[in-house]
Amino acid sequence: MIPEEQFKNVISHAKEYGFVFPSSEIYDGLSAVYDYGQMGAELKKNIRDYWWKAMVQLHENIVGIDAAIFMHPTTWKASGHVDAFNDPLIDNKDSKKRYRADVLIEEHIAKIESKIEKEVDKGRKRFAEGFDEAQFRATNPNVLRNIEKIEEINGRMKAALENSQLADLQQLIVDLEIVCPISGTRNWTEVRQFNLMFSTEMGAVSGESGKIYLRPETAQGIFVNFLNVQKSGRMKIPFGIAQTGKAFRNEIVARQFIFRMREFEQMEMQFFVRPGTEMTWYHYWKAARMRWHRALGFPESKYRFHDHLKLAHYANAAADIEFEFPFGFKELEGIHSRTDFDLGAHEQHSGKKLRYFDPETNESYVPYVVETSIGLDRMFLATLAHAYAEEKLEDGSERVVLRLPYFLAPVKAAVMPLVKKDGLPEKAREIMQLLKYRFQLQYDEKDSIGKRYRRQDALGTPICITIDHQTLEDGQVTIRHRDSMQQERVSIEQLPALLESLVSMEAVLQRLNAEQEAYQA
Ligand code: ATP
Repeated sequence: MIPEEQFKNVISHAKEYGFVFPSSEIYDGLSAVYDYGQMGAELKKNIRDYWWKAMVQLHENIVGIDAAIFMHPTTWKASGHVDAFNDPLIDNKDSKKRYRADVLIEEHIAKIESKIEKEVDKGRKRFAEGFDEAQFRATNPNVLRNIEKIEEINGRMKAALENSQLADLQQLIVDLEIVCPISGTRNWTEVRQFNLMFSTEMGAVSGESGKIYLRPETAQGIFVNFLNVQKSGRMKIPFGIAQTGKAFRNEIVARQFIFRMREFEQMEMQFFVRPGTEMTWYHYWKAARMRWHRALGFPESKYRFHDHLKLAHYANAAADIEFEFPFGFKELEGIHSRTDFDLGAHEQHSGKKLRYFDPETNESYVPYVVETSIGLDRMFLATLAHAYAEEKLEDGSERVVLRLPYFLAPVKAAVMPLVKKDGLPEKAREIMQLLKYRFQLQYDEKDSIGKRYRRQDALGTPICITIDHQTLEDGQVTIRHRDSMQQERVSIEQLPALLESLVSMEAVLQRLNAEQEAYQA
C-alpha cells in the first residue's frame, strides 16, 4: 500500500477505535486541534510515563516540575518570542493557500536530495558488488552538481532568515521557480512575518496592559524556576529539570493530522551545565535520546539525525531526531545547546541573579543549558503510524493490528468468557479482580471469540485471556498473543507474573539504563 493511503487508514482507524477525534466535531471541528479518545488518552499517558520515568526516575540529577501555562508577559519578551517567534509566510494569489516560505524552499531542497539518492541507486545497480558509495558520492558529477545547488540554496536561505531579509527569501522562491502545489502557479505575494503566539487578556484589564500569552513552549517555565528548584532541591550542577505540558502555536500551515497542531503537548528537559562543558553534554543527550527511541524496538532505519545549519537565536548547536512518518522523514525531537541565552536574558529582564555557585571551582556563573524537546503528539503519531498493520492471514482472512510495544498498549489484556453463561462470566470477573489493580484491562463478552480477537488486535491489546468450561475444572485459561496469534494454556495463578513479564515498562527501563551505563563507562 502506498504510504499516503496507509496514512489515511491510520487516521480513520484512530477515529473508529477511540484514539483521536477532531476537536468539537459536531460543529465540524476546529482546524489543527484534536481530542484524544478513550484509547488515545491511555496510549498518550503511557508514552508520557515512559518519557518521565526515563528522565526523572532513572536520573538522580533530574527532577520534574509542572509550571503554569500562563506566565508573566515579560517572560516572552526575555525569551525572544515577542520579537522573533515568527514564521515567514507567503500566499499564492491563485489558490489563496498560505505557506511558510522556508518550508517551500526546504521541500524544494528535499526534491534535489531525492535526485541525488536516485543517482546513487543507479550507481549501485550499475557497479553492483564493486560499488563504493562514498567514492561515488564524492566524484559523480551529477551528485556533486546537486550538492552544490543545495549548498547555495541553504546559504541564501540562512542569510535571508538570519538577517530577516524577507525580500531575499521571496527572490529565492522566484529564482527556484517554486510553484504552488495546489494551483501550480508562481503567482506569489510578498513574504511577511507572522508571530506564532496566541494572546489573551488577564482579569478585567483589557488592551495591551492586560495582555498575556499562552505559552508557545514549556521550556520557559523551567528557566524561570531554575533557582527555586536548584535551591529547594539542593541540586548540584550538572542537573536537569523536566516538564511535560501543553503548548500553543498559531501555526500558519497546520496539516498532517496531529503532526502539527495549534494546541499540543511537549516533553522537555533542560540540563544545566558548567560553561564550556556544553558540547560534551550536547553529544551525551543526542545519544541518550536516540537510545530512548530505539528501545521501542522499531527499525533503526526509521530514525536519523538532522544537524541544523540554521541555528535559532539562542543556540550554538542543534540537531533533530527525525522519524520516517508516512509522509517522509520529519522532526520528532530537538536537542539544542542553548548556551546561557535564556537564563542570561531572564537575569537582564527581571533584575534577579540567576547564578550558580560552583563549590568545585569556587566560581559563580550563569549555567549553560542543553535541552531535549519532544512533542508528545508527534511521538504518539510516530508510534501509531508505525504500529498500524493490515495483514492477510493464512486462512485468507484479514486483520488490522496495532503492533504497539506491549508496555505502551492502552489495554494490556482483554478478559473474555467464551460464552455468556454456565458460570464463565463469573469466573472471568474473578480474573478481572485478580489483575485490575496492576493492569489496564477490558472485559468483553459480546460476539464470537474470533470477532473479539479482531477488536483487541485493532486496539493493540497484547494479550487476550479466554475462560472456557474447562477453566472451571482445571483452573487454566487460554492466553492468546497479539503478534504471533499463538495460544497457550496457563493457570490462573500464573497470570499476574506472566502479564507483568510481558507488558510492564520495567524491563524496557532496565535495558535503557544498562545501555546508558555502558555508554558512560
Ligand atoms: P517545526 O520545525 O516542526 O515547527 P520546531 O523546530 O518549531 O518544529 P521546537 O520548537 O523545537 O519545534 O519544539 C520541540 C518539539 O515540539 C518538536 O520537535 C515537535 O515534536 C513538537 N512540536 C513543535 N511544534 C508542534 C506543533 N505545532 N504540533 C505538534 N508538535 C509540535
